[in-house]
Parts: sequence; structure tokens; C-alpha cells
Amino acid sequence: MIKRKAIFFDRDGIVNYRIVGEYINREENFHFTPDFLEILPKIKKLGYLAILVSNQKGVGKGLMTSEELGKINDFMLQKLLELTGESFDDVFYCTDVSVENSFNLKPNPGMLLEAVEKWSIDIQNSWMVGDTDKDIIAGKRVGLKTVLIGLPEENNAEPDYTFPSLIEFYKVLI
Ligand SMILES: [Mg+2]
Repeated sequence: MIKRKAIFFDRDGIVNYRIVGEYINREENFHFTPDFLEILPKIKKLGYLAILVSNQKGVGKGLMTSEELGKINDFMLQKLLELTGESFDDVFYCTDVSVENSFNLKPNPGMLLEAVEKWSIDIQNSWMVGDTDKDIIAGKRVGLKTVLIGLPEENNAEPDYTFPSLIEFYKVLI
């Protein structure tokens, strides 16, 4: 079977704006970043699978229900299609709260490994893109190329690349 290249995206802070100290539990709280809307159709055109890997601890903590998370997810996928003509190929959420007790909660690699297996992903030519240390560490544990979107001084996980925006990241793909 031919292996496929993929870009793994964190959600909050990458696909949509993060709201500090709040969980995204309603459509009104979910606002796409313009950069993600711009690059999604472009990376799909380059042949990458787009895969979401998102911690949603608010569910495990009882601050949000699985139904609310499901509704937000449906809204996100539908809106992406409407706005860009593309959507994620797959989405993985982890609602656990304890890194010690969950193989899936980033920085642990469970969600990423599951996707790699399911989609037969070419790890060496694939990327993990996120805005926090835990995204970078999870990506490194799997052997993906890692990209931090943000400021280098806010990060300790030594990503392979740091870019101020997704637009700059896209430029290294072409
Ligand atoms: Mg994030």
C-alpha cells in the first residue's frame, strides 16, 4: 500500500482562535482563523491529508458534554466545506484529563499513532502543527516534522520549525 503524507493540526489556536481560560462549547465561541481557511485548500491540493488531533479536557472535567463537542465538530466540518470546498480527512479528539493515565492526551502520541496506522501515513514526509509544547512533543514522539505557530520564547519543546503564522508554514511546503 502506498503511504500518504499528512499534516496533523491542533485545533484551538490553529484552526480556530483560542479563548484563554474558556472551553469552546458553543458555535458562537468557534471562530476560524483566516490563515487556516486560506491554507486548508492549498495543502489538500498538494496532496496532504488534513488530520485534526485535539485535546478537549473540558469534556472529561464535566465543563462541556460530548454532545456539545460533537456539535462543534459537525459545525466545523460543515463550515470548512462551505468556506473552502475542503474539510478534514479525519478528526481525533481526546477528552481525558490526566496525561499520566491517558496514552491519547497530547503530549502523549496515541491519537497520532492511531491516525498513522489507519491512513498508512508516511511519517517522514508528514507534519504536526500546533501552538503549544504538548503538540510539538506529541509530534516528536511519533517522528513527525514539528511546527510551532507562535513565538519561540513561549516554547520549550524545541520544534523543528517556528513560524509566526500558518501562511509562513505553507511556504516551506511549496
Ligand atoms: Mg492549541
